[in-house]
Amino acid sequence: MARQVFSNAIILEGEELEATRGYLVVRDGAIERISGGAAPGRAVNLKYGFILPPFINAHTHIADSVAKELYLGKEQPQVVAPGGVKFRALSSTPLKDIITATRAALLDMFSTGTLAHCDFREGGVAGVDILRRVSTTPVKSFILGRPLNFRELSKVLAKADGIGLPSLNAFSPDELGEIAHQTQMANKLLAVHVAETRAAQEVSAEQTGEGEVKRALELHPSFVVHATHATADDFLSLQKRGVPAVFCPRANSILGAGVPPIHLALEAGTRFYFGTDNVLACQPNMFEEISFAWACLRASNPAAGSDEARKLLMAATVEPLRTFDLPWGPIAEGGRATFMLLARGNNLQNLSDIYAGLINRARADNIQAVFLDGKIVISRGDKKKLVFW
Ligand SMILES: [Zn+2]
Repeated sequence: MARQVFSNAIILEGEELEATRGYLVVRDGAIERISGGAAPGRAVNLKYGFILPPFINAHTHIADSVAKELYLGKEQPQVVAPGGVKFRALSSTPLKDIITATRAALLDMFSTGTLAHCDFREGGVAGVDILRRVSTTPVKSFILGRPLNFRELSKVLAKADGIGLPSLNAFSPDELGEIAHQTQMANKLLAVHVAETRAAQEVSAEQTGEGEVKRALELHPSFVVHATHATADDFLSLQKRGVPAVFCPRANSILGAGVPPIHLALEAGTRFYFGTDNVLACQPNMFEEISFAWACLRASNPAAGSDEARKLLMAATVEPLRTFDLPWGPIAEGGRATFMLLARGNNLQNLSDIYAGLINRARADNIQAVFLDGKIVISRGDKKKLVFW
């Protein structure tokens, strides 16, 4: 039986990422034992490096990696709204170049510790097909399709993992209701961009008497994306309905939309995840996303400390497991051996708080290995074990 022991580790266990200073035993693809103290017998000495779950990137648009930096000199609607530079770039780029760029974005995710992502895939059925074709690395892609028109809904639903609505104005209210109904009947995911810009939130309030978050909740979505200009009351509504928000602070900032009020979600007890959003704006690297999110949170709430940092790390790793059906869970005895090993390197030495330290300072170059079902899928430092695409 294949057995491996990692000693002198800081293991972030369970749904709350509780830290255990000790050792972890893997046998036949599963975690056989987690214990404090010294490991008996032979073991790989991690020198107080970290064992933590891999990242789940809850919101991407990876095909727009063909449009990098085309946002320069433009406001958010000119970039990503219908007719924006993103869509002009997607329609004018040959398919083979879209595939090459999409594959590069997937590999970048993989090499930075992400093993699952949820993509809003534009372009109807054809768009879903492209990502299905490209998504062959160990990264699991959840593809939320965007029907080109209402008639295409059933075809997109048949091929995709759900529907990702670009906005609440993309379809008529009746069509939105039917999209939500059919998606729920198919037992698939439904998500929608909400309150990304202040203008969208204000126009919604003016025209319908309600902000975008409240309107989205009428559709019973699996989650909402952005909530950049959501109010404290919106976060309470999300919390009451058990609907998570996916925050994308870097893309929001780069596109000039603002920064999400993560402190309001924490105050309301709203569940939240992180996404890196458009690759045209930033790389799908979750280390960078959570580090930036921490800076945003600290800017709005300087009292944010270890507990808040731990919650941000949970949002990037274990929290999305509630929404996305994945073949791993939090790190626990009896669970699948799917986790990252992060070495201390030069940047993670002398941390007075491990959660804030990890959120603020960990980088992809700290990745010593990533295990999927007990098998190494990424390894650095040991050339004999190098299993990199
Ligand atoms: Zn998006």
